Amino acid sequence: MGMSERLEEVRAQVAEACRDCGRAEDAVTLIAVSKTFPAADILPVIAAGQKAFGENRVQESREKWPDLRAAHAGLELHLIGPLQSNKARDAVGLFDAIHTVDRPKIAAALAEETARAGRQPQLFVQVNTGAEPQKAGILPEAADAFIAECRERHKLKIFGLMCIPPVGDVPDPHFALLAKIAARNGLSGLSMGMSADFAAAIRQGATHIRVGSAIFGHRPALKEA
Ligand SMILES: *Cc1c(COP(=O)(O)O)cnc(C)c1O
Repeated sequence: MGMSERLEEVRAQVAEACRDCGRAEDAVTLIAVSKTFPAADILPVIAAGQKAFGENRVQESREKWPDLRAAHAGLELHLIGPLQSNKARDAVGLFDAIHTVDRPKIAAALAEETARAGRQPQLFVQVNTGAEPQKAGILPEAADAFIAECRERHKLKIFGLMCIPPVGDVPDPHFALLAKIAARNGLSGLSMGMSADFAAAIRQGATHIRVGSAIFGHRPALKEA
């Protein structure tokens, strides 16, 4: 099966999940995660009408996306991987959305660069819902204070929250926790759900699902981040 057929299949599954829980299909943005795949693999997905793409590295995106964007109007690029503060300027220039705001240093760097650029990408705060020591994201109990700090101290407009549940956990409680933290902070965006669990995420209110391998196939293991 080619990329465009797999994309069709994912779209049908998204539509079905939305129908099952009574949500409008256009309430969920499908982000096609193209990390590690070259432009040649991305082109058929663009040709099939996909607009939103996700990458996890600033450097890789800078190499791949300027040409693709110049050739195809209306694409949206989402950063879904960790951001270093010294890459904040590039990230603000390249991305329409950043899903990985997770510490004061990054918030400060984004505040500085968005002021300089005069534009702010849509921002999601990443929450480490499983409190995994090796994983990025603010701890759930620190999320309210961090969101307030982004808003009040750094004057950032926060659009939503993002999580990556621990591998092997049933994801639903993590999605529900993220939705609860978002609701009490007045946030409407929920970036949650990947190839294996996007239907569950949609049931819990996901507004953005990040789907890679179900569309592009398996990534080379060495390049996985
Ligand atoms: C790679 C990645 C995805 C996509 O994962 P798949 O299982 O291939 O769908 C989603 N979110 C993040 C943060 C990722 O790094």
